[in-house]
Amino acid sequence: MKIAILTSGGDSAGMNAVVRSVVKAAILKGCETWIVREGYEGLVRGNTEYDEARKTGIVEDAKLPPGSKEIVPAHYKIQPTDPYFLHNLRFGDGPLLKDGTGDYGSSGKRTLKGRYIVRVGWDDVRAWFAEGGTLIGTARSVAFRTREGRLKAAHNLIREGIDALVVCGGDGSLTGADVFRAEWPGLLTELKNTGLINDEQIEKHAHLRIVGLVGSIDNDMSLTDLTIGAPTALHRICEAIDNINSTAFSHSRAFVLEVMGRHCGWLALFAGVAGGADFIFIPESPPPASDKNGGGGGGWEDGMCDAIHKHRKIGKRKTIVIVAEGAHDADLQPIRAEYVKEVLTERLGLDTRVTQLGHTQRGGRPCAFDRIMPTLQGVEAVDALLESTPDTPSYMIGIQENKITRVPLMEAVAMTKEVAEAITNRDFKKAMSLRDPEFIESLEGFYATSELKVSERLPSHTFMRVGIMHMGAPAGGINAATRAAVRYCLRHGHTPLGIHNGFRGLLDDNIQPLGWLEVDTWMARGGSELGTNRTLPSVDIGCVASKFQTHKLSGLLLIGGFEAFAALLELEEGRKHYPSFRIPMVHLPATISNNVPMTDYSLGSDTSLNALVDACDAIKQSASASRNRVFVVETQGGMCGYLATMGALATGACLVYTPEAGINLDTLRRDVRFLKTRYALDVKGKSEGRLVIRSEQASSVYTTEFITKMLKEEGGSLFDSRSASLGHTLQGGIPSPIDRVRAVRLSLKCMSFLERQNEALQAQSTSSSHGLTDVNDNTGTTNYGEGTGQDTEIGYNSTRHWHVPPESAAVITIQSSSIKWVPVREMVEHADMKHRRGKKAWWIDSGVKDLVESLVGRPQLVG
Ligand code: ATP
Repeated sequence: MKIAILTSGGDSAGMNAVVRSVVKAAILKGCETWIVREGYEGLVRGNTEYDEARKTGIVEDAKLPPGSKEIVPAHYKIQPTDPYFLHNLRFGDGPLLKDGTGDYGSSGKRTLKGRYIVRVGWDDVRAWFAEGGTLIGTARSVAFRTREGRLKAAHNLIREGIDALVVCGGDGSLTGADVFRAEWPGLLTELKNTGLINDEQIEKHAHLRIVGLVGSIDNDMSLTDLTIGAPTALHRICEAIDNINSTAFSHSRAFVLEVMGRHCGWLALFAGVAGGADFIFIPESPPPASDKNGGGGGGWEDGMCDAIHKHRKIGKRKTIVIVAEGAHDADLQPIRAEYVKEVLTERLGLDTRVTQLGHTQRGGRPCAFDRIMPTLQGVEAVDALLESTPDTPSYMIGIQENKITRVPLMEAVAMTKEVAEAITNRDFKKAMSLRDPEFIESLEGFYATSELKVSERLPSHTFMRVGIMHMGAPAGGINAATRAAVRYCLRHGHTPLGIHNGFRGLLDDNIQPLGWLEVDTWMARGGSELGTNRTLPSVDIGCVASKFQTHKLSGLLLIGGFEAFAALLELEEGRKHYPSFRIPMVHLPATISNNVPMTDYSLGSDTSLNALVDACDAIKQSASASRNRVFVVETQGGMCGYLATMGALATGACLVYTPEAGINLDTLRRDVRFLKTRYALDVKGKSEGRLVIRSEQASSVYTTEFITKMLKEEGGSLFDSRSASLGHTLQGGIPSPIDRVRAVRLSLKCMSFLERQNEALQAQSTSSSHGLTDVNDNTGTTNYGEGTGQDTEIGYNSTRHWHVPPESAAVITIQSSSIKWVPVREMVEHADMKHRRGKKAWWIDSGVKDLVESLVGRPQLVG
């Protein structure tokens, strides 16, 4: 198969990772690969000008080495040192499009002038990860919108013999792809009738295979949770908010931020959640009509001022309002940042500034998520093309929670259009219902954590005293999760109690109610604001039980890694003897190692992957400067190789060593052979640095130092080596936006889980004659801020029970495409307690380590 890939519409971070992954995955499957420069515009222009030049002999094509196969059938398995593979490896004469001019290759022979559809090889896309935007160019093509333009595009594809197309772009680009495929048979007939193609070509190209990948910073495509580039844009916005926060606080100012998003409020909403904003405006959930138009008050201005005034009244010194570019009120009247500023200045007397982030949101290095997901999606796209038949629909590759999905392109495009139509028709309920569940939950989460109101208080007999504890090493997002839990509690009338320094702190009565304002800045804080350690309840289980009783805990939220899981297990087992443990308890996994059984994802793992990517980008630059250096990078992660493996995928490392796979002499011999072969194949003077990632506990004998020295010795004149240990830097400084947003979402789910379990236990105890009734009429305090005079007295009851079902002590997990509650008791059979990790892991089952090595050609070069 001859596969071409193009990027179209607005550029987004991660598009290069898609191109790299599609090119490499396609070559590995025996396909020929092409890139189309400048999006659909390149497809319309084709290679006509270049072909003329070729006739005159001014330019030459690279030649295949003797004995290699030009076209390889899809089922063909590439053999080690296969001439086809080697040819593809060396096809380009260095990175094709990185010489700054865009139009001329460095040798002068492989010119790109007048040439928009270009054959590319393996090494042409090396190291494309770290680059933002799209290196193959993008455009908004007017010509492709016309049938005439699409006819030219079809002709150009057929002339190059291309039979499959990967399109990476936004909803417009994918609509274009859909139109193109629908018209294909008609275009072919027209080309035949005008004599531009012959019968043989008609037969060969009767079926155009198309697959779409969504590259767009807006995250506006239906049927996928995330579009490629949206997470990086969110990073840029959150960096800006974090920077603005300090100056806003210093001067007690208000800032109005306008962010991108014409028809979709995803960026504004998620930035609002992750940045801890006070108020947001998004198109899907517009506020009431403006006072300006309706007159007489009661417009959104009142709602906004009221909310912000409440925050200011309890002592908040800074105000952040986020406005999506396409925000409007219920009358579809646009809401502009400048006008929001006027309202805040005039009505609340706030010193207000407007910041428009503009194109800074598009640019910059892709975050870890925008390297890993596009890589996995690119591989899936190639598979979808290879499996495509005339009867299968064109697919769009998407993502749901943690799962790469294939959905019919037409359906996704139609649903996306429905959202825009629903907004235009003022059917905002429908617009919201068409967004993915995460969007809706995040909006609820935003209100739950940003609004200062108690209107959602539950009946007083259901009020709980919820202990919140951090356990194990700090991980990005644990403070954000705590903030969300605290605010949820206060909103519903519960008393949130911060337990400082884990179970040791509890034994020392280091436990205090947490206030709304007190946790305000915790969103962006790294480390652990509550303090944490690894002590388990078994240190003195009886005393821990008595402390539960002393502090009248009626619910517990444990945030942490494997220790938190082990602690919850001990508490659940302790229920047999200690009634004070017969309360709802929940564990929210948070660890950079991502080693909690049965969950694909733990809070903090995204932050640490980003820390690893940042460090490795810098290291790789240094390694490349020395041309032929291999860096052996050591990561944390305990006995779990998740961080090392996903880090290797995100940085394009060529080898990865994990505790699960271990290291032995055979592996080392093979890997040395690979590096020697690979460096020998590099174009002279164009060698680049390479990374090897080693998980700290991959082997107790073959240490990082050993491997580094061995590579240096074996590399001879081909390469030398250095090592770098990333250590605790991997815990990351500021938590990543994805960790923050997930922290809020999962934490709120944990709190409503505690409420549900509490209600069930109460219902059970009132109906059961066996119920041990131990009702406490205590008084909790709703503490909104320090010294604000707003504290309110509330009642509190708790009931202890004989028969607590195991489900009431559970772990919140993400499994593939859904969130699931797993009773901690059930987790045991899935846990490898000795190695402190799950018995199974999705990234092992889906062969990520093999993919890392395949994408650098290790198996192809040395078996
Ligand atoms: P972004 O989300 O960044 O705006 P996008 O892909 O939605 O990206 P558009 O400008 O809408 O950006 O579309 C990109 C290109 O896709 C257009 O310039 C045009 O060439 C093509 N295209 C869009 N809609 C159609 C259509 N209905 N028919 C044919 N081609 C289309």
